Amino acid sequence: MNGESPGVFIAEFDGGKRGRFGFVFDPQTRVPTDQFSINGGEKGLIYKYTNSLYDNEVWLAFYGLEDYEKNIVSYSDVNDVVDITHYEAEIDLTSPSKRLGLKADIEMIVRSDGIAAIPFIIGESLGTRDDDRKNKQMRISRAVVDGVPLAFAQEEWEGGFTVFLPAKAKAGDKITVEMELEGDFLRQSQFVNHCHYPRSNTSWYPRHGYLDRSTYALTFNHSKSRKVAAVGLRTSEERDPEDDSVTITKYEMRHPISLATFALGPFERHTEQIKWDTGEDPITLEFNSLPGAYLAIKESFILAELNNTVRYFHALFGAYPYDTFSATFHPYGFGQGFPSMLMMPPTDRDSKYTFAFVSHETAHQWWGNIVAWRSYRDQWLSEGFAEYSGVLYTGLRRDQGAAKNMIEAMRGSMSAPPRTELGLGKGRLTDVGPLILGHRLASSETLDAYSVLVYEKGALVLRMLHFLLSDPSTLDDKGFYDMMKDFVGRYRNKVASTDDFRIVAGEHFAKSPIGRKFGLQNLDWFFSQWVYDSKLPSYKMEYTIEDRQGGGVVVKGTVFQEDAGEKWFMPLPLVFDFGGKQVARGTVHAYGPSTPFSIDLPMKPKGVSLDPDKWILSDKTSESKK
Ligand SMILES: [Zn+2]
Repeated sequence: MNGESPGVFIAEFDGGKRGRFGFVFDPQTRVPTDQFSINGGEKGLIYKYTNSLYDNEVWLAFYGLEDYEKNIVSYSDVNDVVDITHYEAEIDLTSPSKRLGLKADIEMIVRSDGIAAIPFIIGESLGTRDDDRKNKQMRISRAVVDGVPLAFAQEEWEGGFTVFLPAKAKAGDKITVEMELEGDFLRQSQFVNHCHYPRSNTSWYPRHGYLDRSTYALTFNHSKSRKVAAVGLRTSEERDPEDDSVTITKYEMRHPISLATFALGPFERHTEQIKWDTGEDPITLEFNSLPGAYLAIKESFILAELNNTVRYFHALFGAYPYDTFSATFHPYGFGQGFPSMLMMPPTDRDSKYTFAFVSHETAHQWWGNIVAWRSYRDQWLSEGFAEYSGVLYTGLRRDQGAAKNMIEAMRGSMSAPPRTELGLGKGRLTDVGPLILGHRLASSETLDAYSVLVYEKGALVLRMLHFLLSDPSTLDDKGFYDMMKDFVGRYRNKVASTDDFRIVAGEHFAKSPIGRKFGLQNLDWFFSQWVYDSKLPSYKMEYTIEDRQGGGVVVKGTVFQEDAGEKWFMPLPLVFDFGGKQVARGTVHAYGPSTPFSIDLPMKPKGVSLDPDKWILSDKTSESKK
């Protein structure tokens, strides 16, 4: 209907050694994007439905032949049909255990000529377990443009629906589609009564595009005995003049964001002010807790941690933009950081795990919300960065030893075997694949590869950039934070790809002490090694110390780089210990299997160590004096 060609091809195979599997080729990239979250421009997939995952497992994802011939491909978002700019939504929560009602005016701009059918995604995160997708899905019952009812189609198992315009729209046309939907889409926690959450926080309302941004005005109708927490600023909370048992609560998010959510419960609100050290106007911090009769939660501890973490990252990574910052209790074993609101289990114990967890979730305000990832391949920019932000905060909040332990644990997990459906698999997680494969690292044979690599290796890769952009002789790391702030500044309220980040980081690196020392103009070499390749080198330094004529000594040695091939290049920190806390710092580099070096020193060091602070990711790093 939109005149797109060629069309979609789908085939299913069965009866061979591999059992039943599917093949899809979609030149408009919509099926891979909407139903598989594979949106780096891939057009074809080979996949198999896997019972134990309640989902399809992707075996292969590939581009079109012409893309391979041109050796370049566009991100899938170029195929978006519309750009949704604003949601004006009324959300009916008056019978939460039966239904979620949604009336929405969705404002959008058409992106190309001849558009007659607009597909939306919704409920795509519901799986096949208990037939959730089929039975609990939000179903569209009405769609209207300018007073004209529209035809629409939603299949029984579809993770979305399509509406059909009465006439073909042109690029730049602004249209508002009024929609009504409902479904059994709220879940009540098994542990805490009277709290309801969307079955999927990210797919309860119609969306178009992967992380397209919009502003939101949300009006909730709900029982007066509960409260609603949502993204954005609460602008009113009043009794419904027509029904005394109902409260109407309104939230507004005036910044364009990718994902919005809410929670309903007997919340008890705890607030304090966030006063920025950098002088901006204070904003309100709110924690939607539960009354003590349900659960004892140390709200003051949680408020203090939220306040500390948001101020810390505001200073490090650039201004926190939203009008409020809040967290809302949810009784599940994970956190989710939505713009201006975290969904959090009660994490009120004074431990390094709590500090790392809360700061990871708060850091998503920058990594994920202020700057979103462009495709699944770029998700390490969100999870890896949030994880490393958690290390930085934990080091400050607890002590550097706690941060060091976290880094050592992350390095250790690189060599751990992957988890499979049947227990532990063979080999090492790090060899499963490079960071740029994103969630495709996870499969039934490598269940934990996404979380370990994208979160932990992602964090360790950012840590290497922390070193490369610092002054290695003083460990002054202003250069690193200047780069991170610049990255946030350039991509504020936008999506960024790995390439976008590589370019920003490379520009700063060219001016850094290490970039200048080695005459390097960019970080292309670094990204091709650590993001696009999956090698895990080991470093060993052997050295001698000889007296020099006329005083001083010369430290001579070789850096051996194993398991990295001929062309792998890496600067490494070197620390000279002169005793009595007197140290000097410098760098050596490895290029290929062995690289000699020679360094003059004014006096003889007691010891020389290679990267004692574990800046550079390796399987093993050691030194020995000959
Ligand atoms: Zn995260």
